[in-house]
Amino acid sequence: MIEAGRINAAPDFADLHRHLGGAVHPKVLFGYLAADGPDAGVSAQERDSIRKLLGRFPTYADLKRHFATRQPTLVDYLELHKLVEPLQTPGAMAYFLYRIIRGARIFEQTSLLELRFCPYLRTDPSLDTADRIAAMEAVLEAIAAATKVPAYAVDVRLLLCLHTALPDAVNDATLDLALRRRDLVRGIDVAGPESPLRDRLDHFLGLYRRAADAFLPATAHLGESSPEYIHPEFFPFLRRIGHGVQIALHFPELLTELRERGICIELCPSTYVQTGTFADLAPVREVTRRLDDAGVDYCLGTDNPAFNGRYLQAEHEIALDNDLIDFRGLVRCQRNAFKHAF
Ligand SMILES: [Zn+2]
Repeated sequence: MIEAGRINAAPDFADLHRHLGGAVHPKVLFGYLAADGPDAGVSAQERDSIRKLLGRFPTYADLKRHFATRQPTLVDYLELHKLVEPLQTPGAMAYFLYRIIRGARIFEQTSLLELRFCPYLRTDPSLDTADRIAAMEAVLEAIAAATKVPAYAVDVRLLLCLHTALPDAVNDATLDLALRRRDLVRGIDVAGPESPLRDRLDHFLGLYRRAADAFLPATAHLGESSPEYIHPEFFPFLRRIGHGVQIALHFPELLTELRERGICIELCPSTYVQTGTFADLAPVREVTRRLDDAGVDYCLGTDNPAFNGRYLQAEHEIALDNDLIDFRGLVRCQRNAFKHAF
């Protein structure tokens, strides 16, 4: 018999791993671009972004196809964010957040949604670095205000992303902002290409230590595409790990430490195929088996559902279809997501 879970009474799920840049469904994005054309932009830069995107993707089918294309590497995949981030200005956030939240409730039965983003990348790029840093708090406030959509009753929690490709000063200021606005920020993450993280370990470890000292919950993208990007030095400062699939595959001896620290792994199966990390989901089946054997909690997340076209229930379905989990595992993932939310 399946262990009683929240699934029995009424479907109710949580997604802990979703990037704001990859959360806007291509239909919504295209609708935004096409409705008023470049006039929808409130700044010259925004109008320019819209004009370029409409030139490159004149129809919805063009945009959808581009997002859904399997990318050769994780670095190529992350380039997709750069198309969307310039549009996610404070003025446009209410439009996008309303639709993200509506979709989460109606199509995903999700009552708790953690959204992560890098505020600096949503400031006006025509400003200099100091002015962009100064504008980050207004970006955060606009996004936080736009998450209040009582009609759909989704508890949206915000995580700020440090970024491996941004200067030290920007990451320092991002953590400062997270600590200053604990009323709006539930935790931090580090995102971006993996190799610069390895080259700047001292910088990022210093930030994670500061966050832990202030009891700010933290997750980090670690060990996604290669075992060389695992970095166990971060473990003492983490409550969760984004992906970490290479840990179970290449360093299973580290799983005991993850269990003892109560760290939960956020698995996003569709991502690993779309980014070319794995050709199919067979390695992830081995990951979930080893996590289960070691007693390490994990949950399923969507990462960038707009890019792969799979939202939370589709991730559950593909995980069941490929034997990553069975229905008992689905209930455990569902419970773990609520248990480990920030
Ligand atoms: Zn991610």
